[in-house]
Amino acid sequence: MSIKTRFAPSPTGHMHLGNARTALFNALLAQAKGGQFLVRIEDTDKERSDDSYTTELLSDLKWLGIEWQEGPEVGGAYGPYSQMCRLDIYAHYYEKLICEGHAYHCYCNEQELAIVRKAQTSAGITPRYPGTCRHLTAAQIEKKQREGRIPCLRLRVPDEAHVRFQDLIYGMKDFKAADLGDFVIRKEDAGPTFMFANAVDDALMQVTHALRGEDHLTNTPRQILLLNLLGLKPPQYGHFPIILGNDGKPLSKRNGSQSIKILREEGYHPEAIVNYMARLGHHYGTEGWMDYTTLGQKFSLEGIGRSSARYDVEQLKFWQKQTTAQYPLHKLVDWLKAVLPNEAHLETLVPVVRDNIILPVDAITWVDSLNTVGYIFEGEALEWIQKTPPQYWEVAIHALKVHGPDAKTITDVLKKEVGVHGKALFMPLRLCLTGQLHGPQLVEILNYLGPVLGEQKLQAMYVH
Ligand code: GLU
Ligand code: ZN
Repeated sequence: MSIKTRFAPSPTGHMHLGNARTALFNALLAQAKGGQFLVRIEDTDKERSDDSYTTELLSDLKWLGIEWQEGPEVGGAYGPYSQMCRLDIYAHYYEKLICEGHAYHCYCNEQELAIVRKAQTSAGITPRYPGTCRHLTAAQIEKKQREGRIPCLRLRVPDEAHVRFQDLIYGMKDFKAADLGDFVIRKEDAGPTFMFANAVDDALMQVTHALRGEDHLTNTPRQILLLNLLGLKPPQYGHFPIILGNDGKPLSKRNGSQSIKILREEGYHPEAIVNYMARLGHHYGTEGWMDYTTLGQKFSLEGIGRSSARYDVEQLKFWQKQTTAQYPLHKLVDWLKAVLPNEAHLETLVPVVRDNIILPVDAITWVDSLNTVGYIFEGEALEWIQKTPPQYWEVAIHALKVHGPDAKTITDVLKKEVGVHGKALFMPLRLCLTGQLHGPQLVEILNYLGPVLGEQKLQAMYVH
């Protein structure tokens, strides 16, 4: 049977690395198994949800190369794919639970619940709803209603319930009814809770595998129980450790997490982010840069680790460089255009900087120094310049005039006529053209500078 995985984001903020990784793991798992990947918008939090986040989220996914076969924009047999459009569907299941005695109205207010929670906490008990409204009489209900109380709906967790499930990553898990408590499935405002809608939709949409962060692990027994009571088939759940920041705390804005939107604006390549995220808490047998298809083919559940992965921006930069190395010229030209809109020679600039930059802004520094005529040298650079005879510059200028800005020919001529070799041959030229001891290939540099600027720079040294 073909598998179906899903990503079920709540559109309450920008997509960060954590949720992008969840989307990616699910999408790659579907790909690895030749299955389907579904996207569902969980917009049940009316206050915090915003359509603009949904739009951004879908565009981030597409930009990352993550495609879904079912969900918003593409449709499918089990829609609608936004939960607020599914209220009629949920109504049927609430009815069923109420009729069969599996759900009941709870009239407790926040204040009353807080008192109970406090008492339980100070007695060292994990706070659970104590079942106050489980057996209200008709008269009691009428009284509560007369007080103007609006009820929420709770699931009646069977006392003897015992939920065991095989987590796809953590293995066998075991929970008792007492651990769960009668939880809310419909809010006072009649809106569905996450616990309910998320579980019901996975079942109705025939999701077979749900990979998500371990922060959801304690929701899982509740959701399995709910689906069992409804006679619906739960997916197989797999929980993976959340990502930690460099300070060992869960990754957040404070310790380095960035939104996909920002990373994209900064000029990170989607393949860099994807290559990095696919390895954040997941291990591939093979090293090395992979395209999206290969990342999917080689992805495996067994590769997902049980210990937390740490976000390291240096690793992201590493994959960024690997990706730049894979990109064809025209893509890199477009990449740099955003920061250098007035640069007329991007085609020749790209080969100069591609191995020496991580983000497009880094190219600006190179362009500035490449377009500078005459530098102030210090330290080692100054020593090299002082050691270089004037004849070197004279010969170089002549060679450039005769042969054009061709580094190979110019250095050949210098070698022959000035008798310099190795560093003494290359370093003065490099310093003259870039002002720096290290950097791009001389061939590419001269090709970018052209004869005019190249000669101006050599002349400036000759005067020196
Ligand atoms: N909407 C939930 C969230 O964003 C989905 C959790 C899940 O993957 O089941 O946390
Ligand atoms: Zn109650």
